Amino acid sequence: MLKKLFQSFRTPVRRVQHLRTTPEVLNSGQHSLQRNQFSRHAVSIVERLQNAGYQAYLVGGCVRDMLLNITPKDFDVATSATPEQVRAEFRNARVIGRRFKLVHIHFGREIIEVATFRANHPQDEEEEDSNQSSRNESGRILRDNVYGTLEEDAQRRDFTINALYYDPVSERILDYANGVHDIRNRLIRLIGDPVQRYQEDPVRMLRAVRFAAKLDFGIEKHTAAPIRELAPMLREIPSARLFEESLKLFLSGNAADTFEMLVDLQLFDPLFPASTEALEHSPTYTHTLISEALKNTDLRVKQGKPVTPAFLFAALLWPALPARVLRLQERGMPPIPAMQEGAHELIAEQCQRIAIPKRFTIPIREIWDMQERLPRRSGKRADLLLDNPRFRAGYDFLLLRESAGEQTDGLGEWWTDYQDANDSERRDMIRDLGSKDEAGTGPRKRKRTGAKRKRNAAADSGE
Ligand code: ATP
Ligand code: MG
Repeated sequence: MLKKLFQSFRTPVRRVQHLRTTPEVLNSGQHSLQRNQFSRHAVSIVERLQNAGYQAYLVGGCVRDMLLNITPKDFDVATSATPEQVRAEFRNARVIGRRFKLVHIHFGREIIEVATFRANHPQDEEEEDSNQSSRNESGRILRDNVYGTLEEDAQRRDFTINALYYDPVSERILDYANGVHDIRNRLIRLIGDPVQRYQEDPVRMLRAVRFAAKLDFGIEKHTAAPIRELAPMLREIPSARLFEESLKLFLSGNAADTFEMLVDLQLFDPLFPASTEALEHSPTYTHTLISEALKNTDLRVKQGKPVTPAFLFAALLWPALPARVLRLQERGMPPIPAMQEGAHELIAEQCQRIAIPKRFTIPIREIWDMQERLPRRSGKRADLLLDNPRFRAGYDFLLLRESAGEQTDGLGEWWTDYQDANDSERRDMIRDLGSKDEAGTGPRKRKRTGAKRKRNAAADSGE
């Protein structure tokens, strides 16, 4: 089977620019990879498939990351065996099918993903008739579950650095797209014609940014050039897929850099239209609040601490809230209902783009509600708030707002001290609050006049 490797030419080569029909082969002395660095389960799967007569390689992110001395998140295998053939070889294998059929092989907590070589759907006129329904009118690939050869599998991958195949048996790397060259030069480069590849799958624009931020690579100029113009194509992507993708963008430890790049390449707008408007109207505040939140998230990820998507989305959307609340108030809605309704509208609208599941939208609302409640501390309120399961997130969010320059009259520091204080100190702190307790510090406060604020604060606290 292995010798078949260099000789299948089912795909016409004329539209393939960065792809070679015979790969550059790097022998074990020509690269830094060693078989024992890879998951032994993944290596044993490759060996077993090869022994059964199939082609099989470690591929994608794990080869790329290993060449860069980064610990891979997971190990993927690509093979000529079909999912059914793979399943027949392994007792612990499950065929799963979301966008395409894959096999998951389970070893305790480790799951190795085994994918059958796939081909891109043809696009040229003479090839199109049999497969017309696999693309939409803008060239987007709707289905790509057609099996293919190894060469075709390399060609349908997104970036050159993601199309490297490592054979742990011969310890050779097969490089069809000059990926090793781009790894050395630290460049994200699409395989093939960038415009066509983005049209096939606009999410590749987000992936370019994600890998550039993660690896600290540049985006090669032809790969970067069409992005601003094609960015609106992201609006056509199903919102559930964009949710998954946005978690990868913002929860992988490089969110602050990712955000800057998304804004620069105009990719932030189709993902977060309301926040983009806020960036235009109050650039310094919005930018500071979002980047501070993302820097905190990055730090937590690097320290191995848990991060919640709810906090992240609460921060990404918060700067868009005041404009909405104000609009509703101008139509005569009282402040508290306006805040509630504004929050509801904003989240509903955002979910059209990015399908944030309910288990996160509910805590987003709770974090925001907490911002209304944290200023109101008199009597037993402060202690009740401390016991609220959402207190910590609400308090962290308050500090975030302060770090972005929101004026809260020392509220964050007060809560910091209150948490440290003993019972009698706490009683003193509540007594010392006096009349300044009840002012609301929701997002609309920044827009209010002093007199209005007093009236609203009284209404807020039901006085
Ligand atoms: P990570 O470390 O973030 O998981 P990865 O490279 O493994 O990086 P995945 O999203 O897990 O990224 O995808 C695995 C591989 O599948 C990629 O390396 C790439 O070769 C291919 N791939 C994934 N998504 C696409 C896409 N939208 N278009 C083309 N190829 C893709
Ligand atoms: Mg991966």
